[in-house]
Amino acid sequence: MLDVEKIRTDFPILQTEMYPGIPLVFLDSAASSQKPTAVLDAMDYYYRALHANVHRGIYRLSEDATNAYESARERIAHFINAPTSTQVIYVRNATEGFNLVAYSWGNTNVQAGDEILLTEMEHHANLVPWQMLAERTGAIIRYLPFDKQGMLDLSLLPQFLTEKTKIFSFTAVSNVFGTINPVKQLVDAAHAVGALAMVDAAQAVPHMAVDVQAWDCDFLAFSGHKMCGPTGIGILYGKQELLEAMPPFLGGGDMIRRVTFDGSTWNELPWKFEAGTPSIAEGIGLGAAVDYLTDIGMDAIHAHEQFITHYALEALSEVPDLKVWGPAVASQKGGVAAFTMAKVHPHDIAELLDKDGIAIRAGHHCAMPLHQKLGLSASARASFYLHTTTAEIDKLVASLHRVRHVFRL
Ligand code: PLP
Repeated sequence: MLDVEKIRTDFPILQTEMYPGIPLVFLDSAASSQKPTAVLDAMDYYYRALHANVHRGIYRLSEDATNAYESARERIAHFINAPTSTQVIYVRNATEGFNLVAYSWGNTNVQAGDEILLTEMEHHANLVPWQMLAERTGAIIRYLPFDKQGMLDLSLLPQFLTEKTKIFSFTAVSNVFGTINPVKQLVDAAHAVGALAMVDAAQAVPHMAVDVQAWDCDFLAFSGHKMCGPTGIGILYGKQELLEAMPPFLGGGDMIRRVTFDGSTWNELPWKFEAGTPSIAEGIGLGAAVDYLTDIGMDAIHAHEQFITHYALEALSEVPDLKVWGPAVASQKGGVAAFTMAKVHPHDIAELLDKDGIAIRAGHHCAMPLHQKLGLSASARASFYLHTTTAEIDKLVASLHRVRHVFRL
C-alpha cells in the first residue's frame, strides 16, 4: 500500500488553493502529471551548478553535465529494461517518437499498397504521422476496431493483420477508455505475419512496470511529462538493428561523425537521432522522475491506481444520467475515467467542477476518431495518479451532483 499522504507532500502544487479555501483536486494526470520536489530540485541543481553544453566541452563542467545527462539515459533504459542505453533516444515527447519512426523507418521501408495497422482507439500522435506517411508513399492505413466495452476486438486480428502489413502501431493503454491492451499478444500477432510492432506507451510507462524485452516490441514511445518528469523530453526505444539501419530524422550538430562540403556521415546510436543541443535539464529531470517512481515502486503505483479506479467506477455509477466509457472493470483499465452526462456538455461539466477546485479534462483528448465512432464530439475525463485519494473522488462525485442540480436534471 502506498503512503499517499506522504507522497502528496512530495508535490508542492498539491498544496495550492485554486480559490480562497478551495484546494486543488488535480484529476488530469493523463494530460500531464504534476512534478515532485525531487524532479524540481534535480533541474534546479543542474541550472545552478552544472550547466554547460554536453558532448562538446573538454572542461570539467561540460563533462559533469554530460555525465548527468547520459547517466539519466542509463537509468531510463533500466526503467524500461532496454538491453542497452544506445537504444534509448531522447526526443521531445511521444509524438516526436512516432514522427521519427514514421519518417525515418517508414520512408525507407513502406511502399504503395503496403498496409499500416493502427487501432480505432489511438491518440492523434499515433495516427497523424502514419497518415502523413501513407500520403507520401501510397500505403493504406487500417484500423482494428474496438467493441462496446472499449476493448480491441481481437477476433478480427487475422483479418486486419496480413502479409501486407508492414507495421502494427497501437497503444498499450487508451487515454480515453483506459483500456489496458494485451501488448505481448498484439506484438506476437504482428511478428507472426512479418510486421513490426510499435507501442504507444505514453499512458503505460508512467503507471505500470514496462519491460520492452518481455513485450518484444520493435519500437516504443513515451513522454516525460506524464510520468512526473518535465515537458520537452520523451523517449523513443527501438531494437538495435532497426535503429542502426534507419537514416537520421533531423540533421545538424551532434548527430554527425564528419561533415565536409560534399556531404556528411552519421554519429553512432543514440546520438544519430539527436540533432542539435538537446534538452539537457529535461533529460536530467526525467532521470530524477524515474528514480522517484522506482523508489516508490511501479507495482505499488499500479495497485494504488487500480484501487482508486475501482473506487471511482463504483462512485460514478451512483451518479444518475452519467455514463463512463470503456471497460467497466478496474482490472482492465488504467487510471482513466472518461464520462458523459445526458444533456450537459463536457465543457460545462469541467467549468463547473473547476469552481470546486477540481481539474479534469473535457474535449476529444486528441482522439477524435474514437469519439466520432461513439457519436460524441467530446467527453469529460478524470484521471488518477499515485497521489490521488478516495477523498478526492468523493469531491468529484459531490461536484457532479451539483452539476446535475445546476442543470435541473
Ligand atoms: N499517446 C497517448 C496515449 C497519449 O495519451 C498522449 C498524450 O496525451 C500521447 C500519445 C502524446 O503525448 P505527447 O503530447 O506528450 O507527445
